[in-house]
Amino acid sequence: MQFISRRKKLIANHQAELYGHCLQFYGQPPLENISLSEFETFAVERLKLLKTVENLGVSYVKISEQYTKKLEVEIKNLNFPYRTEADDGKSQSGPSEYEKRRKDHISHFILRLAYCQTEDLRRWFIQQEVDLFRYRFSDLPAKYKSEFLHRNNLQYDTIGADEKKSLVDKLVNSSYAVSGITVEDQDFYRVPFQDALDLVRTRKVYLKAGYAYIPHQEIVSIVLNDFRTRLSKALALTARSLPAVQSDERLQPLLNHLSHAYVGQDYSIQKSVGKISLEQIDGLAAKSYPLCMRQLHQALRENHHLRHGGRMQYGLYLKGIGLTLDQALQFWRSEFVKGKVDADKFDKAYAYSVRHMFGKEGKRTDYTPYSCMKVILSNPPSQGDHHGCPFRHSDPELLKQKLQAYKVSPTGISQILELVKGMHFQLACQKYFELTHNVEDAGFSLSHPNQYFIESQKLLGGGKEIKREADPPQRGQDPPQKGQENSSPRGAAVTGETPAQQPVQDVAEMTEDLDSFFQDA
Ligand code: SF4
Repeated sequence: MQFISRRKKLIANHQAELYGHCLQFYGQPPLENISLSEFETFAVERLKLLKTVENLGVSYVKISEQYTKKLEVEIKNLNFPYRTEADDGKSQSGPSEYEKRRKDHISHFILRLAYCQTEDLRRWFIQQEVDLFRYRFSDLPAKYKSEFLHRNNLQYDTIGADEKKSLVDKLVNSSYAVSGITVEDQDFYRVPFQDALDLVRTRKVYLKAGYAYIPHQEIVSIVLNDFRTRLSKALALTARSLPAVQSDERLQPLLNHLSHAYVGQDYSIQKSVGKISLEQIDGLAAKSYPLCMRQLHQALRENHHLRHGGRMQYGLYLKGIGLTLDQALQFWRSEFVKGKVDADKFDKAYAYSVRHMFGKEGKRTDYTPYSCMKVILSNPPSQGDHHGCPFRHSDPELLKQKLQAYKVSPTGISQILELVKGMHFQLACQKYFELTHNVEDAGFSLSHPNQYFIESQKLLGGGKEIKREADPPQRGQDPPQKGQENSSPRGAAVTGETPAQQPVQDVAEMTEDLDSFFQDA
């Protein structure tokens, strides 16, 4: 008993120390127990925030007025700490501010676990966390900035009054944030130039004998460097402890899912089931498919075969846009028999897996179409494969040729390639959408190939291309079977409904199970 109360006290002291400031360096991991549902909620909400940071970072100049306004709104909506509430965590805003800081802390560490697994994931996570940190630090009042530096032992050397006096002209001339009037009142830090490369590159500081002289307003650059280095080391360390975490069967699927997470709608079931005829598919592919699916469709038509990864990615997408099981069987069979597979072989080797995809075989799981994150981050294509995301997996030259073939303008191609270079694959795809649909702003944040299709259909006239008919009794859509696992609500129709956001699906768990049923014949 004594031990328990001492531990509680220890945790309480630890938290008071950790949450005394609205911003942290995430040096100490959380020690308390939390429920699995809180674990998931925190992680998903931080992921949403980081996705917003990513989208805004490409659409606006970082720290511009629009950027900060939009980010501020998202931070408030998701209940993360915001600078106007910067206090000791309790005195002004009560425990809710304390809760926000706790959430900020715990959610950061959960995503560290999920995003330490590969180089790509680490890079993405560091970039978004650094951008978020930049915004939050820059937005702090000066008093809180100094307090933050002090709390985290970030003691950069300030120069003395004499040295400042002797360098006054140089300091004023080298930094537009400093004038002859203000130079007296502000601190200047002397740091090795390699710690301030951002400022050196943009010529914002005075350089002398290998040192950069940094005015207080620009100290964010140094703090960010420090934050980035610490986070990068911490992720490498976390990756080493992964085997222990992965042996926990409650956490492993959750973490795997988070790293491929897509925090939007579930596209597994459409109200438009049966409203697409097989004859319409070629037309829809040309007008409303994202590049990944257009490429798969074209490869299927040309080779009359797709390998395992392609069948999975395209098959689930087709189900998501509204093909019934019977149509899907007919579609795949008619194409495969044009190649080296006869009808008998198709029925033996492939039909089972199509039925499985629709939840009619095996565990009867109603499988979810892949999100962009899943396509981009898992199972990269190798020679002879056509699956994956062309913005992520195609050689830039090849991508350029594809875009030219699809009549994207040279300026548009340059814009897309620039986004690809910056590793903003979904934004590159969104740009492709804008260019091919002749709109300035897509008006949505792309996270799923089926979302691309729905948005395209909305734009092209509310899904007029899709056959209008009363909902037929769904052949191949039997009533839910005993043991059928997808209990998620219905997704949006092609006709343009905007659904409420659905809870995140355990995509990894579902699709991994399905993977084992698909073997290349
Ligand atoms: Fe497909 Fe998404 Fe890549 Fe676009 S960004 S091509 S929708 S995976």
